Amino acid sequence: MSKAEDKRKNCLSCNKSLKRFQWYYRNNGYFCNKTCFSAHLKKQQEASK
Ligand SMILES: [Zn+2]
Repeated sequence: MSKAEDKRKNCLSCNKSLKRFQWYYRNNGYFCNKTCFSAHLKKQQEASK
């Protein structure tokens, strides 16, 4: 069978791969920090207009 690897998470905003301790989980998404999270929120809000 396959190795039990952790799924790599990528920041939804800047798309950097995140290490476990860096996870910043908000709104069903992972971000590297608060800044990326708010940047992503802004993008979403603009897109939904
Ligand atoms: Zn990021």
